[in-house]
Amino acid sequence: MAFGNIDLNPQLIQAVRDAVDIVGIASDHTRLVKAGKRYQGLCPIHKEKSPSFSVDPVQGLFYCFGCGAGGDAIKLHMLTTGDDFPAAIENLAMRYAIPLPSRTEARFAGGKPERNIEGALQAGAEFFRDQLRKSPFARKYLEETRRIPPELVERFGLGYAPEGFQNILPALRARVPQSDLEAAGLVGRSERSGEPYDRFRHRLMFPIHNAAGRLVGFGGRALGPDEKAKYVNTAETDRFHKGFLLYGLHLAKREIRETGRAILCEGYFDVIGTVACGLEGAVAGMGTALTPEQTKLLARYTEEVVVAYDGDNAGENASRRALPLLLAEGLGVRRARFPGSHDPDSLRLEAGEEAVRAAIVGAEDAVTAELDRLIPADVARDPRAQAKAANEVGELLRPIPDAILRYSYSRLAANRLEIPVEMLARRVGGGAEKPAPGRADGPQAGPQEGPSPAPASSPSLIRSLEEQVLDLLLQEEVRSQIPPVEELPPPGVFLDIECRNIYEAFCALYAGASSPPDFQMLKSRLGERERTVARLAKIMLEREVASGRIGLLESLDKLTDRWRRQRIKELHGEINEAQRKGDHALRDRLVDEKTRLSRSLHRGSRQGTNHGLG
Ligand SMILES: [Zn+2]
Repeated sequence: MAFGNIDLNPQLIQAVRDAVDIVGIASDHTRLVKAGKRYQGLCPIHKEKSPSFSVDPVQGLFYCFGCGAGGDAIKLHMLTTGDDFPAAIENLAMRYAIPLPSRTEARFAGGKPERNIEGALQAGAEFFRDQLRKSPFARKYLEETRRIPPELVERFGLGYAPEGFQNILPALRARVPQSDLEAAGLVGRSERSGEPYDRFRHRLMFPIHNAAGRLVGFGGRALGPDEKAKYVNTAETDRFHKGFLLYGLHLAKREIRETGRAILCEGYFDVIGTVACGLEGAVAGMGTALTPEQTKLLARYTEEVVVAYDGDNAGENASRRALPLLLAEGLGVRRARFPGSHDPDSLRLEAGEEAVRAAIVGAEDAVTAELDRLIPADVARDPRAQAKAANEVGELLRPIPDAILRYSYSRLAANRLEIPVEMLARRVGGGAEKPAPGRADGPQAGPQEGPSPAPASSPSLIRSLEEQVLDLLLQEEVRSQIPPVEELPPPGVFLDIECRNIYEAFCALYAGASSPPDFQMLKSRLGERERTVARLAKIMLEREVASGRIGLLESLDKLTDRWRRQRIKELHGEINEAQRKGDHALRDRLVDEKTRLSRSLHRGSRQGTNHGLG
């Protein structure tokens, strides 16, 4: 989320693109080692032990052979910080000292006065921290009642909003305009008198940051016994969307990425309490049910989530509602059990740190636990209960994207339900196989669909042949060998949708020019088509890894031949079908096509403009 009133105009975006240094950005998050023209290191996006992350400083691209993430420097910044595109542009512009146009314009254009809301929030956070130091009551509450170690008070930036309606404004008036404090949600205005007043009063203050570490708002916990609302958050604004934020993520993300585990709590104090037990990687929702956006955010950093919700019924229900969202993101989910109605923090205070650690470390697999609950031991003796349980199991397992995992759980459940696994598997459904990052979006279009058997070569070989061709088309040394655009095969010979996108862009640029486009032209044409750019990054960075390189014309021929073989197979079926229907004209046309294709296939030579693709 952007914080200033930044106008994301194309000039600004281009200026950022031109200025960013991908090696510098990558080096913030991982240690890079130079290898030839490239840099290599451990991937900052997924957890790994041997380096598969590669950066090309000349082309300004990165690619990870482990997780498939790839793209340009802005994309890398987004993936490593959690910034969205506008925030990335703004942060990178600041980092590379690029003037942010609308800010300065607004100052001088006499338009709406510019707001500095983040400045107001920061001034507020400072004020609250200062008030905490001055309030023996609030300090005693934190230190004695809550037993939060001083270093964690510091680390989480905790503060105190004093009693009374007129504190923050007089204290900050000299530095922060009242309108900014209002826009930041720190100061409200009485509907009757129009008088400004402090929104947070006699509350313990938790600063809330987005994943990029920028202050976006506050949560305030009541310290008075008669407060109606125990927790109050900053009102929803452009920069404070509860459903998109996870408390503590900016502090925990590095640890989460390193351990591959996040601990998902319900409350702010649970996060701090869990950390106080020596367990890093704790985050919390914002006092509302977990949202799909929060789940996606979490999935960017981890593969496994330990749900550490309260042990009472409400916590149990909340964790059950969160389960399908987490599973749908492909996350492994474990559920920590806290005795009675304890949460991590109350358990720490009552039973000690070891009890919390044991609950988190010993957390059970959440799906298995749910299956235990859904399938009572004697269910097979009651057909109706059996059918009901099978339905519920279907609902539970359906969101799991990994087909093998889904099947394994289905088998487990089928055994207990005493029904054949195939029957249950049908109930569970196909599931939506989640494409790996950087892979094609959905089912691939083109001739490889349909009922005909898969081509003899494996999909990965097919893919690498297509990538190989694209790689060759973009190599400086090979450019002189590239045939005229009208002699190049049509885009349809590419079965992989991303490769086809790249090839189409290549041909479109080539068609309007006297020579083939170079890599930079292609990259800027693809612009923000992230998946396609990621694939392009893969192709470019694979170049030095790829072995057994073949020539351009040879690989173009291979590609075309593959298509011919595929089409011949299809024609076989189509000819039989035409014969069966008695459509002789069609049959003859198809036979002709097949003969032509077979001939050009066996001749194994280039066909000039016609390729035998008819
Ligand atoms: Zn990776």
